[in-house]
Amino acid sequence: MLLKTHERENAHHQKGGTFQGPRFEVPTKGQPKHAPRELRRVAICYSRDLNTQTFSLVSRDGLSWLESAQLASLPWLVHAFSTREGGVSRPPCAGLNLGFTASDQRERVEQNRRRFLEALGGGDFTAASARQVHSSHSFVVTSNGAGRLDFRPPGIESTSSAPTEAPAGDGLITAEAGVLLTIRIADCLPVLLVDPRQRVVAAVHAGWRGAQARVIEKAVGDMRQAFGSDPQTLLAALGPCIRACCYEVGEDVVEAFHASFRDADRFFRTLPNRPQAATERHSILFLSAYPPGHAPEHVPAARLDLIAVARHQLASAGVDPEKVFDADYCTACRTDLFFSHRREGGATGRQVAAIGIRKAVAGG
Ligand SMILES: [Zn+2]
Repeated sequence: MLLKTHERENAHHQKGGTFQGPRFEVPTKGQPKHAPRELRRVAICYSRDLNTQTFSLVSRDGLSWLESAQLASLPWLVHAFSTREGGVSRPPCAGLNLGFTASDQRERVEQNRRRFLEALGGGDFTAASARQVHSSHSFVVTSNGAGRLDFRPPGIESTSSAPTEAPAGDGLITAEAGVLLTIRIADCLPVLLVDPRQRVVAAVHAGWRGAQARVIEKAVGDMRQAFGSDPQTLLAALGPCIRACCYEVGEDVVEAFHASFRDADRFFRTLPNRPQAATERHSILFLSAYPPGHAPEHVPAARLDLIAVARHQLASAGVDPEKVFDADYCTACRTDLFFSHRREGGATGRQVAAIGIRKAVAGG
């Protein structure tokens, strides 16, 4: 059975596991929403070999990132969910802002990106990213050997017409060593997928629009189409995102999911002042005081559980639920660790989810 992070830590203390340096204090369920911005370091016991462990905060070169223990156990793989720790950006993007936003200087973001890349493996990787548009489109990324990357839709073999600039899409897939797939987020859900048998990796960006368009489910299908990946063998890591504790959405979102999914009520949580809303779709409509489809967008109708949507899509695509690992961090609850577009009023930075195949592994 997989334990919650704090439970695992306690278990490791009791077992006297290997101490490998400072870690950040890991939140517990009872932690206040607005934790202090200062990161408090605590010493915990940690060993990658313990298969009960799911995620850890790893520190290197002044930066820190979240790592899935299951993915980290694959020596040919590099992956990370970045945090704000380290970096040169100032408020409101204080820390390791990895996205070019209006509220930060380009030079600072470029310096942060260099630091992040170096910490992950330096010059071994070329970073690939897409122009994220909340779609369900994925691209297969290859290197053309001249330090440039090619992007092509899954199933398209010819690279003659492949765009070499970052295309509009929300999923990136590669089987090529040295290509680091990156997704920028500040509340949306990043999903990293690994085919450990054929050594294929993918990074998916899933906000509510992408999730409603089944971007995660389609990315698994794209891995299958492009590389023959067997969904049952895939590993999936769900990174930090805004969670059901904080993600209030309007009726338009509720309606969109009901139009696309059977039993969509399972993706929504009740608002405190609407005790029946999340379990009774028609109660949502009735209690909103607006006719269906006419509620203003800013009026919250329920809270969306992106993790439940992601788990549903992964299961629908054939991924074993036992191989889906959730970081269990809410970006809006933990603005000390992560950027949150919703909690910080839009003027904030971006963290990155990254995954790639190492060029060479000694003995691996
Ligand atoms: Zn939250």
